[in-house]
Amino acid sequence: MSHRNKQPARHPPIMEPKVFRRLLVLACISFMLIWLIDESSGIISQYDAAAYPICICAFAAIYVASRYSSASWQNNLHLLTYLIVAGYLISTSIWHHIGSNALFSNAAQWLGLNYVIAYLFLEVKRAASTTILILAATLIGHYVVLIQNHGLEDTIGVVLNIAVAHIVYIILLWTVVRLRVKAAQANTRINLLENYAYVDLLTGILNRRGMEKVFDELGIDQIKTGSQRYALMIIDIDYFKQVNDQFGHAMGDKILTKVAAKLNRTIRPEDVLGRWGGEEFVVLTLNRTPQEVLALAEQLRFGISQLSLEDVSDITVSIGIGFSDLAKTRQEVFTIADSNLYEAKQSGRDSVRCSI
Ligand code: GH3
Ligand code: MG
Ligand code: MG
Repeated sequence: MSHRNKQPARHPPIMEPKVFRRLLVLACISFMLIWLIDESSGIISQYDAAAYPICICAFAAIYVASRYSSASWQNNLHLLTYLIVAGYLISTSIWHHIGSNALFSNAAQWLGLNYVIAYLFLEVKRAASTTILILAATLIGHYVVLIQNHGLEDTIGVVLNIAVAHIVYIILLWTVVRLRVKAAQANTRINLLENYAYVDLLTGILNRRGMEKVFDELGIDQIKTGSQRYALMIIDIDYFKQVNDQFGHAMGDKILTKVAAKLNRTIRPEDVLGRWGGEEFVVLTLNRTPQEVLALAEQLRFGISQLSLEDVSDITVSIGIGFSDLAKTRQEVFTIADSNLYEAKQSGRDSVRCSI
């Protein structure tokens, strides 16, 4: 969990450009290997002898285009690559079924790839409609060439066979993708609920439960040696009840939000800030010297005293600090910070107290 709130990307890319380019390299290598095998075994057809180099050059050109094109163009390159692969597979299979070319053909067994690649390369909706078109083109193309040299019954038999096999491919892939989409939605929902559970609704910073979680994640209870240390600050707004009484609860809420935002802006990314409850905040700092912690606390106190908050003047905070070096448990560090906060309040507020 990040200590500061992050907005998730609304439309994550289907495939990272790097992964896409790796697949293009794989496509080039596969085509070269098949070309080599067909050539050396002497079964290469006229069609493939022309199509292989064209496809390899096209993949290489798309590879270069992918390196230099913007993120928004990557999806179009996916579609183009897909159309080249699907176009080649359908056309070579059809060519191999034309009367005079009707030799034993390896082409048909690759047709299933058209559906797998569609769901790999394209957005779900685009893949669904594209696979229907590809299926139609495959069936019509094979029907048209087969009917020239075979009887109607045989032709329909072969085409129906292709249709059933390919529809099974499409349904299975669609099911897998639906499951993947559902899992992704469930994950997003879990993240959202986690956010609700650990983030304070009013101020947008971590709540007490969120801080406890970060304490556990950072393993601060295991920090006992001199080389590793942490400090906790309890920051309490002074005379906040009076602010509520004088200006109303809504204004009180606004001030809480502004104070939280100011604290959040002032700490460093590696510090952890949370709303501990009411008008009390906690800051955790890791591996800073007591002087550095004190300087940060002073900076926070001064920053809040300088805030301009509409009609409300003189908002101040008192801060009590506890260092891990002087305690055995996290609870003890909190107790020390709390008693220092009490001292800061007793000595007139708008001040920082620590035990060193
Ligand atoms: P001190 O300087 O001793 O801390 O005085 P104080 O008035 O700040 O402390 P006290 O504990 O007496 O009052 C805290 C007040 O904070 C009382 C409560 O109404 C107010 N408060 C707590 N949570 C919220 C909140 O979410 N919104 C608003 N508007 N007020 C809150
Ligand atoms: Mg308080
Ligand atoms: Mg207070």
